[in-house]
Amino acid sequence: MSDSIKDKYEAVIGLEIHSQLLTRSKAFCSDSVEYGLLPNTQTSVISLGHPGTLPKHNKRAIELAICMGLACNCQIREYNQYARKNYFYADLTKGYQITQDKTPICYEGHVEIELKDGSTKQINLERIHMEEDTGKSMHDQDLYSSLIDYNRAGTPLIEIVTKPDFRTGEEAYAFITLIRQMVRYLDICDGNMEEGSLRCDANVSVRLKGASEYGTKVEVKNMNSMRNVQRAIDFEINRQIELIEAGGKVMQETRTFDAMKNITIVMRTKEGANDYRYFPEPDLPPLVVNEAWIEKIRSEMPSLPKELIAKYIKEYKLTEYDARVITDFKETAAYFEQICHHTGNYKAAANWINGAIKSYMNEQGIDISMFPVKPIAIADIINIIDEGKLSNSAASQQVFPMMAKHPERSPLEIATELNLIQDSNADSIEPLIDEVLAKYPEKIIEYKEGKKTLMGLFVGEVMKLSKGKADPKITNELLRKKLD
Ligand code: ADP
Ligand code: MG
Repeated sequence: MSDSIKDKYEAVIGLEIHSQLLTRSKAFCSDSVEYGLLPNTQTSVISLGHPGTLPKHNKRAIELAICMGLACNCQIREYNQYARKNYFYADLTKGYQITQDKTPICYEGHVEIELKDGSTKQINLERIHMEEDTGKSMHDQDLYSSLIDYNRAGTPLIEIVTKPDFRTGEEAYAFITLIRQMVRYLDICDGNMEEGSLRCDANVSVRLKGASEYGTKVEVKNMNSMRNVQRAIDFEINRQIELIEAGGKVMQETRTFDAMKNITIVMRTKEGANDYRYFPEPDLPPLVVNEAWIEKIRSEMPSLPKELIAKYIKEYKLTEYDARVITDFKETAAYFEQICHHTGNYKAAANWINGAIKSYMNEQGIDISMFPVKPIAIADIINIIDEGKLSNSAASQQVFPMMAKHPERSPLEIATELNLIQDSNADSIEPLIDEVLAKYPEKIIEYKEGKKTLMGLFVGEVMKLSKGKADPKITNELLRKKLD
């Protein structure tokens, strides 16, 4: 399809993101939500919805939902009613899912996404509501049967529903990236799309540019990575434009993404759509959220990257680039802050993280949670360098690799053993300077006549005599004093 045809159209996209909440127990009973345990060991009659059992509210799940709402600038609803969404499926033994219909706990709200070109865009939210997850059907474990694991049944979820504010797959990608970073910073969800703790459905339509009505939307499911969400949307936009250009009509349907082929495939059409017959959940009392509770949750909210970046630039004098890289992951930001508890050289702390530590982690294929060196040891090495006892290059090329290998040893110990501790003592450097100057009387004349580059030669010779232990800065200063 030519760009000029594509250019006539505009895509309209809305996202629905399900996020499992990091509680210990399920949304409406005390079953554990631990991931990866033997199938069907974390279920009880309540998770399975046996007749006569009663659900109960999980306070932590509600707090996490409110926390996400606050982070997304939402209104928090005072009077919440749960609803039953009725449908039949093998992974839903109850025959209904407990969710929120007319009274989502968070509504409205907005966040700001950042695009590759540096521009920003506000994305408005429709709502964030609470619900429970279903069991998990597995169609690829057994040749003849589908298997079901009910451990997941009843796991608390929030569903974030956006307004149809996205116009490109890239914008949708930026939004999920932001949401994943937010839920991780706020300890709401581990954000793992591959394991399904964060899932995204995309609603996609296209219309002629300038049209006032939206086109018919198609819902795309089963994208298990952020990139696949973008790919599925991009594919779907092209598919719909081609269809319309060929004289066809987009049908309202649900499609699934095939990551191997990079295409979307029809799952079900509107005719086959469920009528969920929502009605108020009779087994749960309405949930009332008061202002004091909201304020308590707000006051305990961890800082988000946006605030940290501002603080690092303003108080720690980092460049915006450094501040961004450090706050990419919560664990990295925490590591950085811990270094800064033990040294005032914040710039050096940032350089270590974005330089030597990052290269080491890339080489080893690990993240900061597995990085063996303690932040205080990084602060120590920074301080040793700042005291002039160790050169930057010796620190990063020789001491640091040893620290990673032997994290129990202090940098000073290692540097001493490797014979790298520099002499910053003027008394011991002066005789070496005298020796060097005595060796090069003509060069001194040339220097005095203006050939200032000779300073490099003098410093180099002193360093050689000291076997690399003289502090180059001090050597420089002393030489200058003698010569000028
Ligand atoms: P439904 O009733 O089918 O669930 P909703 O109006 O609740 O649809 O919207 C579900 C999601 O689809 C929301 O994220 C919304 O922004 C998005 N959406 C609604 N209409 C369109 C459209 N025409 N094109 C793309 N996305 C849309
Ligand atoms: Mg809807």
